[in-house]
Amino acid sequence: MPEIKILVVEDEAAVRGMVRFALEQAGFGVIEAPSALAAQERLADARPQLILMDWMLPDMSGVDLTRRLKKDEYSRDIPVIMLTAKGEIDDRVKGLEAGADDYVPKPFSPRELVARIRAVLRRTVGEDLDASLSLGGVTLDDETHRVTADDREVDMGPTEFRLLRFFLANPERVFSREQILDYVWGRNSFLEERTVDVHIRRLRKALEHVGKEALIQTVRGVGYRCSDRPQVS
Ligand code: CA
Repeated sequence: MPEIKILVVEDEAAVRGMVRFALEQAGFGVIEAPSALAAQERLADARPQLILMDWMLPDMSGVDLTRRLKKDEYSRDIPVIMLTAKGEIDDRVKGLEAGADDYVPKPFSPRELVARIRAVLRRTVGEDLDASLSLGGVTLDDETHRVTADDREVDMGPTEFRLLRFFLANPERVFSREQILDYVWGRNSFLEERTVDVHIRRLRKALEHVGKEALIQTVRGVGYRCSDRPQVS
């Protein structure tokens, strides 16, 4: 599952290293941030599927950072698991109030951590952790990096693959060009919105070969949506 990335916000290098090892063994990609500031920079570079947030950070508390991320539309839907000191019930309550999805008391075992991450991903992202996504007869497989429709392979570039992956993970939702740029290219991309149109066109062209171009729908005045229901225009 190379596409599932986890941002680890933790200032202690030893803990970060242990967590990285455990997560990579479990097949997750890891992005590290030793401070709240670094976390915000990493987030702007790429959107992870989950954040592990230490309670005590040098520049801001993990709770305050979580609260801030949950107020921002860009990061609101990214699940957060807080790493809390052992036994501090108040801390857990505060973390959950700030919008954290779960907490893991320190010290934790790598196995326990990975199990909690899987449970939160299942619940929040709604994505089964099989590496494939599908809609309307089109299936995208992360492990083989292949897209198929009715057993026929669909050829597309890496950007179209990422775009399709994003759409298949969020069916029926309408996204503006700006949101698509943020989510697929990262907030630091500084690309023009018509870049999205260019790649949408390429994606549709690729899907056209298998008669599935109608999956990617234009919502006039708003943006784009992925749906297997026929579009009423
Ligand atoms: Ca710390």
